Amino acid sequence: MKIILLGPPGAGKGTQAKLISGKYSIPHISTGDIFRKNISEKTPLGVKAKSYMDKGQLVPDELTIEIVNDRLQNDDCKNGFLLDGFPRTVKQAEALDKFLESQGTKIDSALLIEVPQEFILDRMTGRRVCKDCGASYHVKFNPSKSEGKCDLCGGELIQRKDDTKETVKERLDVYSKQTAPLVEYYKNKESLCTVDGTQEIEEVFHSICDILGSDK
Ligand SMILES: [Zn+2]
Repeated sequence: MKIILLGPPGAGKGTQAKLISGKYSIPHISTGDIFRKNISEKTPLGVKAKSYMDKGQLVPDELTIEIVNDRLQNDDCKNGFLLDGFPRTVKQAEALDKFLESQGTKIDSALLIEVPQEFILDRMTGRRVCKDCGASYHVKFNPSKSEGKCDLCGGELIQRKDDTKETVKERLDVYSKQTAPLVEYYKNKESLCTVDGTQEIEEVFHSICDILGSDK
């Protein structure tokens, strides 16, 4: 089973990735993780990637593709994989298809967890954390007993900068701009499947399993 996971920040991709990876016994490959691994192990690809990052530059597509392809050749990918955070661009998607084709295989499914922007804003901007002990709350879904005060230590509850409306909205805009062409690409290849991400975690996972089927 070869799967690509798509969805906006705050759609619960990480949680679903863990569940899918467990049920279908395929590795969850996040590009962030493989970059970190290559860099910490100082592999030739990692050293190259780091040289761009140190200069504050984006790692070029070619190198990202090389790093992903390298990872996909590991033994644990024999039965498939779940890619998260890659491809990000149509160019990367095309390169991935070409690579898989050379291995005599292809993507089974590009899974899009769809969640409306207002829904994510609501979910993410309601987060609060305790300044003193780090406990986390949500003004709507998991409020503290006394407003603005931590239940555990009485500390002040604050909103992290990452969770402000401006920051979340900016990330969502970048995501839609980047992902829209990719969604179109997989739609044209007839491998796009859409799941309603506004449901409960278990329900989202259930919908995903319905799409993927029970075979490994
Ligand atoms: Zn606290």
